Amino acid sequence: MAGYLYRCGRCGPWEVQRPIGTAESTNTCPVCGAIGRRLFTPPLLARTPTAVAGARQREEASRDAPQVATGVPPKRSRPAPRDPRWSNLPRP
Ligand SMILES: [Zn+2]
Repeated sequence: MAGYLYRCGRCGPWEVQRPIGTAESTNTCPVCGAIGRRLFTPPLLARTPTAVAGARQREEASRDAPQVATGVPPKRSRPAPRDPRWSNLPRP
């Protein structure tokens, strides 16, 4: 089953579930009964997650204008160990 989107001139869009390839080019509006035309909807495409889109933008920007490191980044402090036995383990 796939969802097909139709639009009524008065009521707006609605979706109809039909087997793939069986949707008509027009359908009757479930609210007012007028004929609505089918809208194009890309199948099985989801929006790109924000984190992935941001990573792609940074990757594309680094092609033309890469960020250049001019120094050593500041040392980050380690969080305190949650288990006191961890403090007895050897450190690298
Ligand atoms: Zn309608």
